Order: sequence, then structure tokens, then C-alpha cells
Amino acid sequence: MKTLFEEIKASIKNNYDPDRSFWRPVLPWGGVFTIKAGRKAVSCTPLYVEINLKNTCTIDGFLMLLYVILHENEHFPKELSLHLGREFVDYFLYLMDSYNFTTVKLLWIWDKMEKRQYKSEVHKASLEIDLFGNEHDNFTKNLESLMSTIQESYCSNSSCPTRMQEDLQRTININPPQEIPHGDLIQRAVDELFCSKIELCEQYGCDGLREFTQRVFYHGAPPFVVLNMQQWKPEELAYVPYHLDLSDHKYLLEGATLFNKEEHHYSAAFQIDGYWIHYDGLRNVNLILLNKPPEFLLLSSLVYIRAAENK
Ligand SMILES: [Zn+2]
Repeated sequence: MKTLFEEIKASIKNNYDPDRSFWRPVLPWGGVFTIKAGRKAVSCTPLYVEINLKNTCTIDGFLMLLYVILHENEHFPKELSLHLGREFVDYFLYLMDSYNFTTVKLLWIWDKMEKRQYKSEVHKASLEIDLFGNEHDNFTKNLESLMSTIQESYCSNSSCPTRMQEDLQRTININPPQEIPHGDLIQRAVDELFCSKIELCEQYGCDGLREFTQRVFYHGAPPFVVLNMQQWKPEELAYVPYHLDLSDHKYLLEGATLFNKEEHHYSAAFQIDGYWIHYDGLRNVNLILLNKPPEFLLLSSLVYIRAAENK
């Protein structure tokens, strides 16, 4: 039997359908997990024999993207194991390869999410887990220290009570530039977050100058980064860069997650072998091969992978 990844690749290659959309058994929305009799879980109270997953689109798109990224880059599974744990990465790939979609979602929920991040209640004999919410809370924030960055700052005023400061961030939140410049706004916003700078000290009563060092990744440049784009308006996203310079490393655009406000629903786009695909686990036609890169009008995040070093 072909793995899910092989199946998707074959679909792209053999897709003669004029509207270029196809259904493949990729991660569907929701999920039902039946607990087989005899398992330890059955004996726990309250008793339930089934787990029902709802509103899983807050993790589905990212799980698909993570799967594609791990398959397309041979060194990434080993590298990501350092952050997410080797057992997690191995089991994640096995479950996705073999179409165990509800189990892979439960792996994410139980291994990576905290209990307060989702609602769960027992209905009759079934445990219902509801992931309604924000995908950055449900996914991006649970990538351990993968994207952790640090920036130090130092005030020129020797009597400043907070002379030395450290700013540690676990995710990458960029804001659109204040003025309306043109060109590559996203690269500018990333530079703004990472570059060294001198600003007036914000400590009350201090008139010193605060010097910020370059922001650096705490554990070295990660294999991939998720840029949180929630603060950006569609008109600020007219240009999405394919190449991004991030903390002295080159990154390439791999995919994006999209948010439909009316339906409060997330979907994703990613590329395989240079083809852009839109994925939506809630639709019957869950994969659509795009003629051109998607226009990122309802962007929730951009996902970039680290480019191979030039040798
Ligand atoms: Zn100061």
C-alpha cells in the first residue's frame, strides 16, 4: 500500500481532471476513535468507548504541512526530533503514512497540547474533544522551543533600574510596518523584529538610550518557521516573498494557512514538487491543484523552510 505522501504525489502527476481538484483520503475534519474492548482506557471513569473530535481545522492544516515538510526534506525528521522528541516524530510519520488520521490528531492533542487549550466533556459513552479556537494557540504555541528567539538590550543610563533586559519569544509574531512603505513589507517586518537597534529607553523617568542586540534563535536556525500573520490586512499582503532572510539564514516559502472569517474555518496551502495545492479537510473535494500560487487574502500564517546551505 502506498503511503499518504506517495498517494498525493501520484495524484498530482496523474491529474487529468479539467478542474484539477481531487479527493484523496487526506486528513478529514473531525474524527472518531473507537476504544476497543479490553483496553485499559475502558476501565477508567467516567466510562466511554468512543472519542469524538470536533472543530479540528485549528490543527489539521498544520499537521498536513508538517507532514509534507518532513517528507520533502530528508534531514528534517532528525532535526525536528531534537525539538519535538524522536518518538513523537516517528509515530507522527507512521500514523500519517498509514492514514490513521484520528490517532494522529489525538497524538498531537495529548502529546503537545495542554488540557486548558481545548474543551472536553463526556456525552453518554463518548468523550468529545472540541478544538474550536485559534490555530496559533492550538498548534504554533505547542512547538516546544523550536522557534524560540532572544534579544538582549542594554540602557546607556547607569542608574536605569532595568539596565539589562532580555526578550525571549517562543513564536514569531510580525506586525505590518507603521508607515505605508512599498516593496517587501513582510521582509521589512521580519528585519524589524530581528535587527539590532537603538531606541529611547521606555523605563519611566529614564532618559537613556537602549541598545538592542540582534535577535537570535535560541537553539539555532530551525528547520521551519511559522510566521503569525493575524495582524495583517489583505491589502498589506499584496506581495508575499518566496525567499526570506531570517537571522542570517535563507528561508523558502513552503505553505500557508488560511482563515475564513464567516465560517470561522481554517484551511491550508502547500507545495509539493513545485505544485501548489489547497487542502481543506471539511470539503468533499479536499485537495485542489492550483494553477498558480494562491493569493493569500485570508492569511493566518506563512510557513517557511530553511534553505539548504550552499556548499
Ligand atoms: Zn533606561
